[in-house]
Amino acid sequence: KYHDALLENCKLFNELQDLKGNIRVYCRIRPFLPTEMKKETVIENIGENGELVIINPSKPGKDGQRSFKFNKVLGPTATQEEIFSDTQPLIRTVLDGYNVCIFAYGQTGSGKTHTMAGPEGATKESWGVNYRALDDLFQISEDRNNYFQYEIAVQMVEIYNEQVRDLLSSDSSQKKYPFLILHFTHEWILCFSFQFFVFLNLRTLGILSTSHPHGLAVPDASILPVRSTSDVIEMMRIGHTNRAVGATAMNERSSRSHSIVTVHVQGTDLKTGSATRGNLHLVDLAGSERVDRSESTGDRLREAQHINKSLSALGDVIFALAQKSPHVPYRNSKLTQVLQSSLGGRAKTLMFVQINPDAASYSETLSSLKFAERVSAVELGAARSNKESRDSRELMEQVESLKDVIAKKD
Ligand code: ADP
Ligand code: MG
Repeated sequence: KYHDALLENCKLFNELQDLKGNIRVYCRIRPFLPTEMKKETVIENIGENGELVIINPSKPGKDGQRSFKFNKVLGPTATQEEIFSDTQPLIRTVLDGYNVCIFAYGQTGSGKTHTMAGPEGATKESWGVNYRALDDLFQISEDRNNYFQYEIAVQMVEIYNEQVRDLLSSDSSQKKYPFLILHFTHEWILCFSFQFFVFLNLRTLGILSTSHPHGLAVPDASILPVRSTSDVIEMMRIGHTNRAVGATAMNERSSRSHSIVTVHVQGTDLKTGSATRGNLHLVDLAGSERVDRSESTGDRLREAQHINKSLSALGDVIFALAQKSPHVPYRNSKLTQVLQSSLGGRAKTLMFVQINPDAASYSETLSSLKFAERVSAVELGAARSNKESRDSRELMEQVESLKDVIAKKD
């Protein structure tokens, strides 16, 4: 009985998510930092229902105002927890075999990394979406463990100048010996060799049996099974360490490359034996700021061109999907190729468009908002014609009543 209620609940819950549309845009405005106090702001008004009005600092008054509408606008006081609670339902669908892509778009310094990962050395309180998502997946898989069995594995890559680099590969380290073993969990060992962290996977070494999930985002990038949040924290740390290797200044590099964490979830229904596979892409995009063309040359110019190309390719793909266009131009960049499995079809996409509050960022803010608006305008129009509110209220009630059945399982 519990099993059936659980299945039914998942089904209705997923239908509810379907009704809400496959593409969502949330705008997050970061607060002024302590170093930026008393600066002028571009934010004129934040409405209740996803409205945002900004003002052109050189055109005060009505003429300088520009309004936008998104699924949600999260103001400077929104906490990491609030951000996640609006994201969580989407992430949960991965356990039922859906693919989900969440990414943060915006100029450097607008809070993309803050939203996705959290501040450096984040504690549980300040964790970003990445850690919270995995924590939540572990939690639910545990809740369901009498009926379902889930295997969760993670990949972490960066795309820099249209090249994909595996951030969890032990090959990032040139020196393989000698190792100093630092940490040990069920399936992997963390070592330190000279100045590099090295990661050894017991499955890869043949010590544990391997069951590879299908639909790998990047087939040859390392895929590491994770069982707990502490596994994830260790893994992210290795990824970040590898990301820094070879880059002169980590911050510089990280703002010019896209970082992608892919979570593969394979579920087995222990009663029926049926299997589901879903994946979740968590993407911290390269900074969207325009590089001053007159000043940049060489490497810097090349980087800027690659970023430009991949961000506009991403915009085009999402726009095509929102419009339900028969042709979706996935092949125009590495980024869209890597994310293809979780963009389109029944996959759900959530974009955080991150903006700075200060007047000096006006033109970058305007261009980020326009990028997001191109997508949300189509999507919000579609949602209205779906009579969304009535249908979803009915479904919501059914989901709630099934929750009671599930709660009484013992
Ligand atoms: P990006 O990744 O877009 O370049 P960061 O996430 O690094 O931007 O954010 C820039 C700075 O602003 C960091 O010091 C970060 O801690 C801070 N910051 C960003 N968003 C918030 C927020 N919502 N609350 C507090 N500080 C934030
Ligand atoms: Mg960043």
